[in-house]
Amino acid sequence: MSVEFDNNDHFNDECGVFGVFDHAEAANLTYLGLYAQQHRGQESAGIVCTDGHSFHTHRGMGLVADIFQKSEIKELSGRHGIGHVRYSTSGDSGLRNCQPFSFEYAHGGIAMCHNGNIVNAHELRRELESKGSIFQSTSDTEVLIHLVARSKAKSMKERLAEAVNRLAGGFSLLVLGEKRLVGMRDRNGIRPLVLGQLDGSWVLASETCAFDLIGAKYVRDVEPGEMVIIDENGLESLHPLENCEPKFCVFEYVYFARPDSTLEGVNVYQSRYQIGVELAKESPADADLVIPVPDSGVPPAMGFAEASGIPFQMGLIRNHYVGRTFIEPKQSIRNFGVKLKLNPNRSLIKGKRVVLVDDSIVRGTTSRKIVEMVRAAGAAEIHMRISSPPTKHSCFYGVDTPDAAELMANKMDLEEMRKAIGADSLAFVSFDGMYKAVGKPRDVHCDACFSGNYPVAIDGPRSPQLSLLKILNKKQ
Ligand code: SF4
Repeated sequence: MSVEFDNNDHFNDECGVFGVFDHAEAANLTYLGLYAQQHRGQESAGIVCTDGHSFHTHRGMGLVADIFQKSEIKELSGRHGIGHVRYSTSGDSGLRNCQPFSFEYAHGGIAMCHNGNIVNAHELRRELESKGSIFQSTSDTEVLIHLVARSKAKSMKERLAEAVNRLAGGFSLLVLGEKRLVGMRDRNGIRPLVLGQLDGSWVLASETCAFDLIGAKYVRDVEPGEMVIIDENGLESLHPLENCEPKFCVFEYVYFARPDSTLEGVNVYQSRYQIGVELAKESPADADLVIPVPDSGVPPAMGFAEASGIPFQMGLIRNHYVGRTFIEPKQSIRNFGVKLKLNPNRSLIKGKRVVLVDDSIVRGTTSRKIVEMVRAAGAAEIHMRISSPPTKHSCFYGVDTPDAAELMANKMDLEEMRKAIGADSLAFVSFDGMYKAVGKPRDVHCDACFSGNYPVAIDGPRSPQLSLLKILNKKQ
């Protein structure tokens, strides 16, 4: 039996995007933009550049630094580029689904990539197939490509506007034409997309941390439902979608985004820190130490420590170089998978009452193993504090989640969860506490995975987005 490090007991972001228009270093900048956003997807990456005539593509499986060597970057000539990092736990993480996709159609060359999920992709695909479209991948991006290609509208922006009007879901999209770069967010702005400038050129990225690495200046977030068209005349802003209403993914603040990013005017680190402050006020604990489950548990644990006056200590040390291991463990190595990633600092923990701070509980298996590990390291008491409300529902807008039936908070009440993970006490931050920490009202956010209030209706059977890929794979 081979063992892979279990990363599945977590929500996983699906993708990150980066785009640049009219810069001599387009390929290098796109590479670095993806490198900075590697946390948004580690399964595959791709870059497409154009010199205004032909398109040059390189895509591969794995991490950005492994896929792109100097020679590959050199081949990506042109002043305009888009890139993509992808995460997928479905069986269909092969090269054919790596983005960006590029293709030739009646109006020339075009390339596309997106972060998110088109919830009506399945029915649109059926409709397009019935009209003769042939698909090469199981990615929902390809549905958009076919809609654009079939449009009779005269200009690219009209064709795109027509196509995106047919889409439902949460997505941030980049489209590279021969002479323009387009960035677009869904009508609720569920997934992030930020706009910046470097040396007079426009850049687009999922997160501002990409701008920091390349020295670009953050200008603003692309608005929900906004389409920005960048060409030799500058930037044009269009709003082709009706009924736009902001519903930004609150989980970006809690877990997905890098803490040094600022999204929708909110610094991610600050929001996580403040959630810890609110948690300490709402659910205090009599304890000797506050210990984070690294990495995303670190800022809320610091906030909890500050607000409670209990010392903060790195009682769990994370191995940052964890990849996949195929070593066969002996049955006697308890919690082997978690130990690959985290190790308790026994001399700190022994005999202490600890507050353990983590970002979420998904299936609960990892939380149980961590509590067991900290208990085995000699902790006298373990008080688990979670920097998000209980995760009870699946995400359908670009985040890989288990079926709702597998989520611990969907099956158990608080006391049952506490017992199941083996903690002495367990508490989650409240919705009020979370939004107070974020500093923005609840009604401009999506919190469906906690509340079940989905901002975009999910038609048909409610299965997580990746099930679509599984269904399609089975058919092939
Ligand atoms: S359901 Fe959860 S993870 Fe998905 S977009 Fe909404 S808040 Fe984010």
